[in-house]
Amino acid sequence: MDMIELDGGHGGGQLLRSALTLSLCTGTGFTLHNIRAIRRKPGLMRQHLTAVNAAARVGNACVHGAELGATSLRFEPGRVSAGTYHFATGSAGSATLVLQTVLPALWRAQGPSQLRLEGGTHNPLAPSADFIAQSYLPALGRMGVQASMQLLQHGFHPAGGGVMEVQVQPCAALQPPSLEVRAPLQAIEAQVLMSGLSSGIGLRELQVLAETLGVDPHPRNVQSIRPALGPGNVALVRVRHGDHVEVFSGHGERSVSAEQVGARLAGQVKQYLDGTGAVGEYLSDQLLLPMALAGGGAFTTHVLSDHLVSNARLIEKFLPVEFDWQPHDGGWRVTVQA
Ligand code: ATP
Repeated sequence: MDMIELDGGHGGGQLLRSALTLSLCTGTGFTLHNIRAIRRKPGLMRQHLTAVNAAARVGNACVHGAELGATSLRFEPGRVSAGTYHFATGSAGSATLVLQTVLPALWRAQGPSQLRLEGGTHNPLAPSADFIAQSYLPALGRMGVQASMQLLQHGFHPAGGGVMEVQVQPCAALQPPSLEVRAPLQAIEAQVLMSGLSSGIGLRELQVLAETLGVDPHPRNVQSIRPALGPGNVALVRVRHGDHVEVFSGHGERSVSAEQVGARLAGQVKQYLDGTGAVGEYLSDQLLLPMALAGGGAFTTHVLSDHLVSNARLIEKFLPVEFDWQPHDGGWRVTVQA
């Protein structure tokens, strides 16, 4: 088996997850050193271990060194099997990040797969389940990936306890995306999710979003959801340009006022709207891997994040592709070529 040596010292958990995904997709094994070396608590945390174990299950892999706190790991993939899988991160480890780790391998497998994922579905530093369902999967869908998701139970940080189900169909070849021109703005909508907290908090967040972004302030946009394991408050803003959707989220926190949560979220949305790029900051780094598997594609974005740069450099180690980014219209144009 081909093996490569990787240095994870210039990024976070994403470098590990991308390495796992690419290893499953290419059959190339890897040893990753300096895992999350730049983070305050370096090494594998529970949510990263769940991703490693999920990848190992899907890809019948042999893994050495997968322990809490480990700063290096050896992963030797076997054959990827389509099937029915159940992965639980425990506590509020992000279930969506586990999904993103195994999804590409499963759409390249021989048959359909069903996944049940448990853990956090709305975590501050990860894609929300709404982002996955409304932005990420539809963007992949336009490249040819057939995958759908149902959110059965919300899971908020720090208690977790969320549940998602995902169905994936096999897909032989992907279409390279072309997301270079932003279509005309069609809608900006807000929704505030509340669990176990007063709806007044959500109404105040919605009011700020209405004043700054012009979204509909009607109280029906504050939704009390079926009680989750722990309290939760997440404000979501959906921005639709043609068939491209971006989902932004703001998380209620102790000692941060509802007005501050609303204002921070509005600031994120305005930064995207004020730019000309078609793709938002988070989707940008998440699109790189599918684009590389498709063998090409291009998009524009308003910001070139560290995640984008470090992920691109890691992907180039597994696949015969080259990423490039050039200043473009006040933002960036990102391309990948085989
Ligand atoms: P670490 O603890 O080392 O930071 P991690 O595994 O938690 O590791 P990152 O390596 O930072 O996380 O990767 C986080 C991923 O989540 C990135 O792909 C990023 O684009 C995505 N992400 C973060 N916040 C959001 C958000 N609000 N909406 C959508 N995606 C997000």
